[in-house]
Amino acid sequence: MEQTQVGQAGEPAGTVPALRTGAALPAPHADVAGRGERPRTQLPLVDALREASDLRTALDAHAIVAVTDARGVIVRVNDRFCAISRYAREELVGRTHRVVHSGVHPPAFFAGMWHCIARGQVWNGEICNRTKDGSLYWVSTTIVPFLDADGRPARYIAIRTDITERKRAEEQAQRMAFYDMLTGLPNRRLMLDRLQQLLGRARGHGQPGALVLIDLDNFKEVNDTLGHSQGDALLRVAAQRLQSGVGQGDTVARLGGDEFVLLLAELGPGLPEATQRAADLAEKLRRQLEQPYFLDGLRVDAPPSAGVVLLPGHADGVDEVLKQADIALYKAKGAGGNQVCFFDPALQAEVDARAGLLADLRQAQAGGALRLYFQPIVQADRQVTGFEALLRWWHPVRGLVSPGDFIPLAEQSGLILPIGQWVLDQACAQLARWARGPATRGWTLAVNVSARQFRDDGFVPSVQRALACCGADPRRLCLELTESMLHTDLEETIARVAALQGLGVRFALDDFGTGYSSLSYLKRLPLDQLKIDKAFVAEITTDPDDAAIARTIVSLARSLRLRVVAEGVETEGQFAFLRRLGCDGYQGYLFGAPQPLGDAERRAGVGPQALQ
Ligand code: C2E
Ligand code: MG
Ligand code: MG
Repeated sequence: MEQTQVGQAGEPAGTVPALRTGAALPAPHADVAGRGERPRTQLPLVDALREASDLRTALDAHAIVAVTDARGVIVRVNDRFCAISRYAREELVGRTHRVVHSGVHPPAFFAGMWHCIARGQVWNGEICNRTKDGSLYWVSTTIVPFLDADGRPARYIAIRTDITERKRAEEQAQRMAFYDMLTGLPNRRLMLDRLQQLLGRARGHGQPGALVLIDLDNFKEVNDTLGHSQGDALLRVAAQRLQSGVGQGDTVARLGGDEFVLLLAELGPGLPEATQRAADLAEKLRRQLEQPYFLDGLRVDAPPSAGVVLLPGHADGVDEVLKQADIALYKAKGAGGNQVCFFDPALQAEVDARAGLLADLRQAQAGGALRLYFQPIVQADRQVTGFEALLRWWHPVRGLVSPGDFIPLAEQSGLILPIGQWVLDQACAQLARWARGPATRGWTLAVNVSARQFRDDGFVPSVQRALACCGADPRRLCLELTESMLHTDLEETIARVAALQGLGVRFALDDFGTGYSSLSYLKRLPLDQLKIDKAFVAEITTDPDDAAIARTIVSLARSLRLRVVAEGVETEGQFAFLRRLGCDGYQGYLFGAPQPLGDAERRAGVGPQALQ
């Protein structure tokens, strides 16, 4: 009988046909198929009603029951529903089940459920709901559609049992199986699983990752001398320090004892960049773990050693990756501990070279080994109108290091802030000196500003200070920004440019055409000048595409009322071509390479006496 199918609702969704409304109470002596067969039920009406009522009482006693209309609006709930959800009946009737939604399931989960029951099929599943006071409960749910005479669902009855305890036990078991009880971090098992995924991504999608194996150098002594509970406390703090230092997509796991593993997934697209990021992050975490711990008021040091393996690398599988990390860790310990070593000797060499260069650059900055060179900018009649200040570094062994090699390093390390400040101070002092000479007082000076420097909150006041300090005319200072700097927070960029422009400072967009450009920012940014990148100028007389780009940049600048300066002008042919386009300024070896100040001034026809 169709009625008995209520009891079969535990079967997989879709296998159980729905009930027809009214089917529970067929007319007495009905000839079902109209072929004179014996009626399927001969219960008198009153018995059938009693049976239905008994069934309902039994159901109410054992299950959480709700009946909804075709749209899911609740028309009846039993006491158990009210008890578990902590809502009064009046608060539920007339509303949908959304009232108990927990947010645990994605919308697709309920879409699938509706897809099934709206087709008249029974649905089974486990749902996490939320009580009126905010706590979560789990129910095993069966939803049975009742069909109308046309076979469309007219009502749904949802029968649920409370499985919160079982779910909790499962979650606890899951936690114990995959998480470390002491620190709450993923354990070896979960780490291996994630490492497998990371390796797969690194191999399949060429997205580099890294594994960092960390071991605390003095942990055994802490445990032996202060006892296990203090050792545990230290490990918990170490775990927190590690976790707060990594990104959301990264994993910090504890393998056991004082061994931790970091799985770094957000290292950027290319291997060189990924190597540097992994090195920087491992170093940052080393510094955090090297900080003392205070256990019961006692200072304890347990600095770490770390072994890094870049993925995909050449390892066969996860076990080999871990072995390589172990070898690198052993190297770090062998070299005295409290340091980071890479497994790959070539990567290690790269990281060491960079660290060496950074140390040298720090020293150069502090010791005055940085210099400013000056390259003239001329107008169409070759008259010098100003200069661009370009940094040079005299390295004791490597000789002259070009800014292309050390500006990125200075940016990553934050050293660009003091360096940039020094450049600004020098530039303003120079402008003030030129202002005193009749032949030079009209000269402008262009200064390159790096992204990190510009985004620093102290940037605007630092320019103001540099100008005010020596009384330089802000209208003679031109700050050069690059397109890539405009992609983050355009509003803030506009605000900073406008603040300095208010003082009279000019702004140029450097290397125009090489970055990813959105013309809308050009319209919104209060710029004064575009600089055509030298890459377009190089072939301007031979490559029609470059010529067309240069022409377009000039006409774009015209319509936005911006000045145009062409960079990298090396030949008379290029100069003639650009002049025909109508640039406002020209810069390049044809008019003078970047030179020390005295040479640059002499070449511009101004001797030291003109500056007295
Ligand atoms: P940039 O601002 O586009 O500077 C122009 C670069 O083109 C300079 O390279 C200059 O020496 C070079 N150059 C000038 N004329 C010619 C030419 O006719 N032909 C060719 N092939 N090249 C020419 P440099 O000095 O190596 O500087 C490279 C970049 O380093 C600069 O590009 C700028 O982005 C950055 N930079 C330089 N000084 C500073 C600074 O003080 N701060 C910051 N943040 N960046 C700087
Ligand atoms: Mg520049
Ligand atoms: Mg440039």
